Amino acid sequence: MSAIHWKIPERVGRLDELANNLWWSWHPRGRQVFRALDYVLWRVSGHNPVRQLREISPERLQRVAVNTEFLGLYDSVMADFDADMTARNAWFDTNYPQLLEGPVAYFSMEFAIHNSLPIYAGGLGVLAGDTCKEASDLGLPFVGVGFMYPLGYFSQRISAAGTQEETYRQLDFDEAPVSPVLDSDGQRLVVKVGLERGFISVAVWQVRVGRVNVYLLDTNVEDNAPEQRWLSSRLYVADQEVRLQQEIVLGMGGVRALRAMGIKPAIWHINEGHTAFMVLERIREWTERGVSFTEAARRVGSIAVYTTHTPIAAGHDVFHVGLVEKYLEPYCRSMGIDRKELLALGQQFGPGDQGFNMAILALRTSDHRYGVSRLHGTVARRMWSSLWPGAEESEVPIGHITNGVHVPTWIAPEMHNLYSRYIGDDWLDRQDEGGPWARVYDIPDGELWRVRRLLRQKLMGAILEAAQRAWAKGEVESRHLVAIGALLHPDLLTVGFVKRFAEYKRPTLIFQDIERLKRLVNDPLRPIQIVFAGKSHPADLASKYLVQRVFNLAADRDFRGRIAFVEDYDMHLAHFLVQGVDVWLNNPRRLLEACGTSGMKASINGVPHVSVRDGWWDEGYNGANGWAIGPSLKPATWEEEDALDAEAVYSILERDIIPLFYSRDERGVPHGWMRMAKEAIRSVMPAFCARRMMKEYCDRVLGPAAKQSGS
Ligand SMILES: *Cc1c(COP(=O)(O)O)cnc(C)c1O
Repeated sequence: MSAIHWKIPERVGRLDELANNLWWSWHPRGRQVFRALDYVLWRVSGHNPVRQLREISPERLQRVAVNTEFLGLYDSVMADFDADMTARNAWFDTNYPQLLEGPVAYFSMEFAIHNSLPIYAGGLGVLAGDTCKEASDLGLPFVGVGFMYPLGYFSQRISAAGTQEETYRQLDFDEAPVSPVLDSDGQRLVVKVGLERGFISVAVWQVRVGRVNVYLLDTNVEDNAPEQRWLSSRLYVADQEVRLQQEIVLGMGGVRALRAMGIKPAIWHINEGHTAFMVLERIREWTERGVSFTEAARRVGSIAVYTTHTPIAAGHDVFHVGLVEKYLEPYCRSMGIDRKELLALGQQFGPGDQGFNMAILALRTSDHRYGVSRLHGTVARRMWSSLWPGAEESEVPIGHITNGVHVPTWIAPEMHNLYSRYIGDDWLDRQDEGGPWARVYDIPDGELWRVRRLLRQKLMGAILEAAQRAWAKGEVESRHLVAIGALLHPDLLTVGFVKRFAEYKRPTLIFQDIERLKRLVNDPLRPIQIVFAGKSHPADLASKYLVQRVFNLAADRDFRGRIAFVEDYDMHLAHFLVQGVDVWLNNPRRLLEACGTSGMKASINGVPHVSVRDGWWDEGYNGANGWAIGPSLKPATWEEEDALDAEAVYSILERDIIPLFYSRDERGVPHGWMRMAKEAIRSVMPAFCARRMMKEYCDRVLGPAAKQSGS
C-alpha cells in the first residue's frame, strides 16, 4: 500500500490512510471524498479507493491539493474520522466502563466487509462484516479473525445453455484494503501451526474496519510446501481433508496470531462451527501451564460464545473421526487427554460415531450458545436436546439473539436523506429506538414514492449497464441479454428473489403453475416483473440445476423479458437489489432458514417483505408491514408445503400486492402501498438493526461472561 506515498501531496497526505480503513464505505461523506477525487476512476476502480489511488495521476492529486472545495471536504471528513476513531463517549464506554479487559475475538470463516475484499460467500459473511462495523460504531473493543483467500469466492457467469460457470480471480494485494502485519523486527509476522507431523507457516494480514481490526490468515508463505501454500486460497472447498486443514489453521492459528500480536481477548466468539478448534488451542494454553484438562475446559468455556447459524444437519461440518485423529492426535498429549476423550468432544452418538461434528465441539466447549432468531433458538434446542440428556427441551441451554443489519451499510443515500429530514438529523444515533420511527408517517407519500421510483430506476440502470457490457464484449447472444434483464421496465411492479440458490430456499416455487404466472406477468394493465439473482455452491449440482431452470425460463419468449436472472450476486449488486425492487420475496421450506437478513435490508429501505413465517419473519411480521406466505405450521409433507405455499404466493400477488401497488391517485401516487412501505420501515428498523443486535449481545452475553471469567 505504501508504494504510492511519493505522489500524494502532503496537504492531502492522509488520503492513503482513509482509503485503507473501510470506515469510508459506510460514511457517505467518506465516499464523497473519493468520488470528488476523480469520479471516473472511482467508478472504473469498482469503488475501490486503494486501487483508485494507485492509478490516479500525480497531476490530478496536485490539483485537488489546491482546490479549496475539495480541501474543505477532506478536512471535515478527516476530522469526523479522527473523532470516530478515538471517541471516548461511545456507547460501550458509557454503558460498560471497565467491563472488558481485552477485546472480543470474533472468529469467522468469512467476512463480507466490502466488495474489494471478496472473502465471503453469503449471509454468514455479511453478518460477520456487519457485526464488525457495528462494534466499531458502538466502541466495543473487538477484533475479527478469518482467512485471506487470495482466490476468494467465485464470480458467476451463465453459459448460453444456462449453466453456472465459476471463475476465480486472483486478488491483487496492492489493490486491496489490506496490509501485512509485521513483527517487532519489521519482518512479516509468521506463526506456526502443527499439521500432521509437521508445521505450517501462517502469515497475517490486517484489515481496518473503523476502530475494529480484522486479521486474516494466509498460508501462501515461502517456507510452506506448494500444496500448503494453496491451502488458504479458496473459501468452502469441497475436499474434506483440505477443509479440516483450513479449520485447524483458522482455529489454532488464529489464537496464535493474536498471541503473537500481544492481543489478550476477554471473550472468544465462535461464529459458526468452522472455527471451533480455537477452543482446543485455548485449552492447551492452560494445560501446558499445568492446569488439568477439566479445569482448563471450564475456564475456556466460561468466556467462549458460540453462534450457530444453520438448522440443517448437512450444513454443519462433520469430519470422519479417522481424519480428525490423524491431525489432532499430537494435540492430545499436550492437553492431557487420550484420543478417545478428544474424539468424544465432537461425537454426537458416543464412541462408535464415525463423525466428528464441529457444531457439537462448539456446543460442548462454550458456555454461551445462541441461535440467530427466536424461532431458530427453539429449533436449535430441539435439534441438540440429546446433548443434554434428561433436560426438557425448553431447558436446553441455547438462547437466541436475532440478527440485525448494519444500517449505514445497507441504507440508500436517498432514504438516508428522507430520514434526516423527517425522523431527525440524529436518526442514525437513535436507529434502535422505537419512538422516533412513528414519524415515518410524516413523510408525504409523494416524496417517498419519488424516492422509491428513483431507486427502481437505478436498479434497472445497473442491470442494463451489465447487459450492455456483456453485449459489447461479444460474449452473449440476444436470448441471453433478455434473460439477464435487458427488457425490464423501470415502471412495473418488480418482485425480487435474490439469495444463495439452495434447494431449501425453493427458487422455482413461483413457477409451479406456469400459466397462472404468465397471466400475472403479461397482464395488459397491471403487469409484474421478477428479478432473480444468486449463486449456487459449485459442488451443489441440484441447486445448479435450479439456476439453469430459472435462467431458461427468463429467456422464454412467453414471459416477454419480464423475468430476469442477474448474474454474479455479490454485495455490490445486493445494494441495488435490496434498495431498488418493490417487494422482497422469500419462500424457504419452514424451519430451515435460521434467520435471513436480506429481507431486513429491503424493509429498512421501504421494500416490504413477503415471506414464509420462518427465521426472523416469524417475529418480524405484524400483519401490516408485509405479507406472510402460507400456513404458520409446517405441513406434513414437502409436496403439501410446496402446493400450499405456491398457491399462497399467487393469491397474495393477485389479491393484495398487485392491486395495492397499482391503485394510484390522480398524481400517480399509490397511497396504500406507501402505507405498507412506511410500516415496514417503522417496525423493522429499530428491531432488526445491527445496533439492537450488538447492544443485546453486550447486555446478555458480555456482562455475564466477563463476570465469570477467570482470564
Ligand atoms: C444480505 C446478503 C445475504 C444474506 O441473505 P439471506 O438470503 O437473507 O440469507 C447473502 N448474500 C449477500 C451478498 C447479501 O448481501
